[in-house]
Amino acid sequence: MQPLPSIKAPDSANDERLHGLARLARRHFDVLAALVTTAAEDRQQVRACDGPPLGNAFWVERFEQPWNDAGTLLVVPDVHRDARFRDHHLLTAAPHVRFLAACPLLAADGGVFGMLYLLHDQPRELDAAQQHVLHEIAQLTADLLAREAEDARLQREIAALRASEKRMALAIAGSATGIWDRNVASGEIHYSSGWRALLGYAEHEVGQRIEESYARVHPADLDYVQASIQAHFEQRTDTYEVEHRLRCRDGSYKWVCSRGKVVERDAAGKPLRMIGTTTDITAMRALSEQVQQTAALMTDLTNEIPGMVFQYRRQADGSSFLTYASAGVLDIYGLTAQQLAANPQALLAIIHPDDLPLYLASFAESARQLAPWHLEYRVQLPGREISWRQGDARPRQLEDGSVLWHGFITDITERKQIEAELQVFATTDFLTQLANRRHFMQQLEAELARVQRSAGHHAAILMFDLDHFKAINDRWGHSVGDQALQHFATILSAQLRKTDAAGRMGGEEFAVVLSDADLDQAMTFARRIQDELAAAPLTHGDKQIALAVSIGITTLGASDSSADAALSRSDIALYDAKRGGRNRIECQ
Ligand code: GH3
Ligand code: MG
Ligand code: MG
Repeated sequence: MQPLPSIKAPDSANDERLHGLARLARRHFDVLAALVTTAAEDRQQVRACDGPPLGNAFWVERFEQPWNDAGTLLVVPDVHRDARFRDHHLLTAAPHVRFLAACPLLAADGGVFGMLYLLHDQPRELDAAQQHVLHEIAQLTADLLAREAEDARLQREIAALRASEKRMALAIAGSATGIWDRNVASGEIHYSSGWRALLGYAEHEVGQRIEESYARVHPADLDYVQASIQAHFEQRTDTYEVEHRLRCRDGSYKWVCSRGKVVERDAAGKPLRMIGTTTDITAMRALSEQVQQTAALMTDLTNEIPGMVFQYRRQADGSSFLTYASAGVLDIYGLTAQQLAANPQALLAIIHPDDLPLYLASFAESARQLAPWHLEYRVQLPGREISWRQGDARPRQLEDGSVLWHGFITDITERKQIEAELQVFATTDFLTQLANRRHFMQQLEAELARVQRSAGHHAAILMFDLDHFKAINDRWGHSVGDQALQHFATILSAQLRKTDAAGRMGGEEFAVVLSDADLDQAMTFARRIQDELAAAPLTHGDKQIALAVSIGITTLGASDSSADAALSRSDIALYDAKRGGRNRIECQ
């Protein structure tokens, strides 16, 4: 049976009218049986059958082969004399059908969707008049089935509409929404029961006049509401939508969202009818206010924190910018957040050029490792002195490949100054302002490392001890002794090159390391100190106090195991100088 049917017949196999048509056909043609079948997927379905001794079950079960593929009337006067049907298993079995006619059921578009069969146990003919009648009965059958199918389709549509209407009603009820319908010309407005329930009114408590409606609108919102409606009436807006307050039955106000549309206008465009909804948005407004308050609190907090709280984003393409900066950005970088947003590069001009490579590398490293960012760096704000900043932030990788940091930057200039002062304090001898013993030993170790690192580089150590210093203290007092120590330190410092280092080792003992100097050069240096000291006695009032110093010298060698070992050699030389009569120079 080609083509496939365009009408899907309903499953009313026992439809009485169909049976009536089958019965009519059987009786009219006086045959054993008449059947109506429709196509059901790949097989035929028997929809009506008349004609004992054939039972429906027999045909439903076994009558599965469509015998008319052509779509035109097929008449087989005697199956025994037709090669196509002679051996067909349905016809050879009881009730041994001999005559077969199959008339197609045609849909409005000409498609075949079923078949009317006549079957008889004796051979017979169908003349033209009879064939015409068979066609007519088939057409009646097709019309009946088509109407049935249409009825079924309508039933399904109605059921679907009812379901959708019910869903809509439930949705409206569930969304705290009411409906209104306004007759613009008469000034009447009707509200749904859901609308009244929204504001707590009973049925009879809400009138139908538009004036009363406006009386429920919060006075502060009324002008805005009326102007919005007017704009829509005049077709300046596609729809009417406003958020405003409405008075409830208990006198309180609820925030609502009113939406509506003019659905009818007269020929001149004047609005006649408008329908719309009112939705309770009190909870949403409260939530949004809460969010705004939280955001304001966050901004206040970050703005009050000394320094700058920030969010910084570096995109996969390498571009980067501050996505948030608290008000402290003005103190930290001398710019407002708006200025930085307009020109992200301005930041790079503020960071000290010596620290900029480190600044950029530290962010790149933090992004690569997704490790916290920490950096102390200098900035140069226009017209201000160089100052120090400390930054700390945590990175997070985003889905688009960019990295987002949250952190803060503080001004650490004061701390850096104190640190620098402490550094001086920790490494300097207070009385003479020379390096203290610990710091001198560090410098000596650094020099030894240099000597050991590069062949041809050498250095000399000189140890000084003022002669008979105890006697000066004893004779002139301790404070004059202090002045003598300072006097000697000044003479010593004046002779040092940038690469040399001097330290007070304790009491009246001093040491010097001469970088890149051999024994001869050290001897020359030592002699010069003695000469300078002899030429410049300490002045105390109108008195001159002569000072002398003994000096022990040694060279710093690559084979020295430690700075201490080298230093003790110079100590031995110094001891020799003392033993040899003082104010002398000895070498080791
Ligand atoms: P020598 O020629 O053998 O070196 O004799 P000397 O007197 O210099 O040596 P000694 O070690 O006996 O005495 C050193 C003195 O230096 C003893 C100590 O009171 C004094 N002295 C140590 N530190 C200070 C200081 O900071 N100020 C003063 N005024 N005196 C100090
Ligand atoms: Mg001494
Ligand atoms: Mg001494």
